[in-house]
Amino acid sequence: MKQSFIFIGLLASQQVFSHIPDFSAHQTQAVYADLNLLKQARIPVLYADNQTNIGYSVLTPTMLQKLSELSHQHGRCGNFEALSQIPNDINIVKKDLDAVNKQHKKDLSYMSVARNLTVAQNPKIAEALQELKADNIKQTVTWLSSYHSRYNKGANANVHVNDFYEKMKLMTANSSFPVTVDLISHRSTPQKSVRVSIKGSTKPDEYVIFGAHYDSISGWGGTGRAPGADDNASGSASLLEAMRVALTKEQPQRTLEFMWYAGEESGLLGSAEIAEAYKVEKRNVIAVLQLDMTMFPGDGEFKITSITDFTSPWLRDYMKALNTTYLNIEILDDKCGYGCSDHASWNRRGFPAVFPTEAKFNSMFQYIHTDKDVISSVMSFEHSLVFSKIALAMALDLGNSTQREALH
Ligand SMILES: [Zn+2]
Repeated sequence: MKQSFIFIGLLASQQVFSHIPDFSAHQTQAVYADLNLLKQARIPVLYADNQTNIGYSVLTPTMLQKLSELSHQHGRCGNFEALSQIPNDINIVKKDLDAVNKQHKKDLSYMSVARNLTVAQNPKIAEALQELKADNIKQTVTWLSSYHSRYNKGANANVHVNDFYEKMKLMTANSSFPVTVDLISHRSTPQKSVRVSIKGSTKPDEYVIFGAHYDSISGWGGTGRAPGADDNASGSASLLEAMRVALTKEQPQRTLEFMWYAGEESGLLGSAEIAEAYKVEKRNVIAVLQLDMTMFPGDGEFKITSITDFTSPWLRDYMKALNTTYLNIEILDDKCGYGCSDHASWNRRGFPAVFPTEAKFNSMFQYIHTDKDVISSVMSFEHSLVFSKIALAMALDLGNSTQREALH
C-alpha cells in the first residue's frame, strides 16, 4: 500500500524527486512511455516532459500489464521503452528526457525553414528495385508466422531466432565482400537479436542501419498462439528481401547493417540495448530505418504512412525524395506516441531515425497482438514490397553518398 501512496502524491505535475525510493524489494520495471497512455492507465508519473509527451514511471507487474493491455487496445505496439535498470537518481531521467527535448527543438528549427531535398535518379538503383519479389516476402511471412509463438519471454523464444540466424549464414556465405552475421545476446530478455553487417569499402565507420522486430505477442504474453504475421513478420520479411538484393550488388561505401530485434513487444528490449551500445561506442550512425507492420493496406494499396514523432525530419525528407525519384506512391503523415516501435530506441539516443508503416494509426490492422494476426485476403504482399523498395533504395543511395543530417 505504501508504495502506491507515494506515487499518487506525484500525479499532478512535473514533480521531481531528488532521490528515487528503493524499489529493489519489488519486481518493478522502470519505463519511458507515452505520457497520455500512463495517465489513461492511471499510473503515477515520477517525471514528465510535456513538450515531448514522455513520462517516466516505475511499474509493478500489474501496472505493466495494464499499460501493455491499454496500448494493445489502442492497436499500438507497446508504446513504452523498458529501461534495463531503475535509475538511482532522477537526474539521470532528467538528462535522458532533456536530450529528447533538445532533439525535438532541433527538429522544429530544421522544419521552420524551407527545404528542398532531392535525390538524383541512378539507373542502377532503378534496375535493382525491379529485382525485388513480393513472393519472397510471402514465403518469409508464411515461415515466420508458422511458429506457435515468437514471444521473447516464452519457452521457445529463440527457436525461430536460431533458424533465422542459420538462414542469414547461408544467404551471406558466398558474398564477394566482407559480411558478418551475429547473434546478439541481451540482459533484458532471453531472446537474441540477429545482425547482418555489410562492411563499407571506403567509409566503414559510417553506418546506415535497417531494423525490424521479429518477436511476437498475443494478449499480455504467455503461452498463447502468437503468429504475428503483420506484426511483425511482414516488416522482417520486407527487410530481408531488400537485403537479399543488396547482397548481389557492389560493396557499399558505408557499412550497411540489417537487424532483427528481440523483445520489442515487451518494451523495445533488444533495440534499446543495441542503440545504447552504439551510443557508448560513439558509432557514427548516419541513419536508421525501422520497418514494423507493412502488409495491411489500411488506407489503400501503395498509400503508406511516415511516422512524424520521434523520427528525424531530415530523414523523413530524404525518404520522400527517394519516393519521388523511384516509387512515386502516396506517403501520408501520422504520429504514434513515444515507444511505439524500435525507432524510438535510436531517436532517444540522438541517432536520425525514420519509420514508414502500412497505414495511418487508426487504419492499421486491428488484430495485431492476437492469434488472428495471420495471412489473409486483406493483406497485400505488393504493399509490403513498397517497404523493401524504400529500404533498398536507401541502402544503395545513402550507402554510397556523403549525405547526412546536419550536425549542430
Ligand atoms: Zn510491432
